[in-house]
This record gives sequence, structure tokens and C-alpha cells, in this order.
Amino acid sequence: MSKEIKKCEYCGKEFEANRITQKFCSEKCCKREWYENNKDKVEANKKRWNENNKNKVNSYSKKWRENNREKMKVMQKEWYESNKKEVSARVKKWYKNNKEEAYARIKKWRENNRERWSEIMRKNKYRNRGYAEEWLEVKELQYQIKKELKKQQENN
Ligand SMILES: [Zn+2]
Repeated sequence: MSKEIKKCEYCGKEFEANRITQKFCSEKCCKREWYENNKDKVEANKKRWNENNKNKVNSYSKKWRENNREKMKVMQKEWYESNKKEVSARVKKWYKNNKEEAYARIKKWRENNRERWSEIMRKNKYRNRGYAEEWLEVKELQYQIKKELKKQQENN
């Protein structure tokens, strides 16, 4: 008896059905189809779990960051390279509208990061653009990376 040729209901590939009720070419497609149909429920569950386990999630994120410093640096650089203009524009706009707050933040950061600060001062290119903007870009970048990593971890 020859097997029936069917079309996978998820990916559309033709396959030999082992059972008459078989709808998908593989376990993978079956799972994917299930996920598509239950996406909202799955995401809501994930979100609820994350909210109920905030401490666990945070300590996991921290540990992950500590164990992946090099990877983080690469990600940071890559992300920055492809979002440079946007970050720069956003920072400039914020800076313009929040000068006092920006100065206060910069002052605080400067006090806590003296070495980094003198490194920035040594670099002429930053001198031309203004220290404040460079600092704000770094901060914005860190914030975006954190957000991106969180998203990735939640999707795992
Ligand atoms: Zn398939």
C-alpha cells in the first residue's frame, strides 16, 4: 500500500503521510502551527511568569551579562553602528529639551567615572562634539542594549 502524499498545513511542503490524520510534514511544523494558534496565551503566560519571578529574571539577566561581556561588547558595537544616526538625533533632541537635567546627570556620572571621563577628554573627536553628547550617547546605548537583551531572553 502506497503512502498518501499530503501538503503540510504549515509550510506547504509535500510529504508522505504515515497516518491518515497527519497534517504536517514534521514535528516542528506541528509545533509551529500550535504556537501560531496559541501565541496570545503563550505570550501572556510568559509575561505573567516573568512578572511573578522578577527577582529570578533579574539575577539571571545579570549573570548572563557577566558571563557574556565580550558578546555584549560586540552586540553593543554592532547595534550602535546600525543605529548611530538615530541615537545621535534622539540624544541631541533630549539634551536640548532637558539641559538642566542632562548637566546634573553628567556631573553625577563624571564624579563616579573619573577615569572614563579623562579618557573621553583625551580624545579630540569628542571635544569637538561636546562631552555631554558623548556621555548621553553612551547612556542611551547601554539602555537600548539592556532592553534588547531582555527581549532576547524573554523570547528564549
Ligand atoms: Zn511543514
